[in-house]
Amino acid sequence: MSEFVVPTPLPQDMTTAPTSKPSRRPAHGRSSAEARIVRSIGEAIADRRLPPGTKLTEESLAEAFGVSRERVRKVLLLLAQRRVVTLVPNRGAFVAKPTPKEAREVFEARRVIERAIMERLQSFPLPLPPEMLDRLREHGALEDEAERAADRKAMIRLSGQFHLLLADFAGNATLAAILADLIDRSGLAIAAFERRSAHTCSAEDHRRLIAVLAGTAPGEAAALMTRHLDSVEAQLDLDPKADLPIDVRAVFAGEPA
Ligand SMILES: [Zn+2]
Repeated sequence: MSEFVVPTPLPQDMTTAPTSKPSRRPAHGRSSAEARIVRSIGEAIADRRLPPGTKLTEESLAEAFGVSRERVRKVLLLLAQRRVVTLVPNRGAFVAKPTPKEAREVFEARRVIERAIMERLQSFPLPLPPEMLDRLREHGALEDEAERAADRKAMIRLSGQFHLLLADFAGNATLAAILADLIDRSGLAIAAFERRSAHTCSAEDHRRLIAVLAGTAPGEAAALMTRHLDSVEAQLDLDPKADLPIDVRAVFAGEPA
């Protein structure tokens, strides 16, 4: 685990979208400064600037965000409750490192939540209202642009935002808040277990979902979303054997002494 030196300052809003939406929902009852820091850390985790296992010192975060260490402590506690950060007694806070089992659980939970979100959306009269479709298409265009430019960080950030945008439109704030946490945790799972050639969400799948919600393509949105999440999970190397402790002697068996 390497000591993480926070670049100063972390960008406050890393979205390239023309408006500030979709936003991470501020945690209920938290100050907006804390919500902003939580969101920034969540995005930095998602796009790998903070890989799993990175040490997060109160001091460097306080400096990066221009807030007190007390406030950073509150943020770290909140992130620990969301299992994005692990607090180790006497050692401090680290970006969580999920096990393969936890990673599978996160994707299973995302399928349940996002299926419900798509069922809600598809129960609205289709096509969806033009302002929603415009927003989804604008977002799709940004994803295409990031894909063309092979801007991996933007692709990761935008693909998470696409899913949150759908959750916002579905109009169930509780589902959307649960999904925001799950997206952060799936970002961690992807960072920890993706195969080398993986590219996470496909912009093509997102276009297809938009077309179904626009009524311009046949299909069942919930089933499409389930398949989409299956394909993201399939890019991860979640071999159940990876849950077992590594026998160091076995790893080096057969090598000349
Ligand atoms: Zn996606």
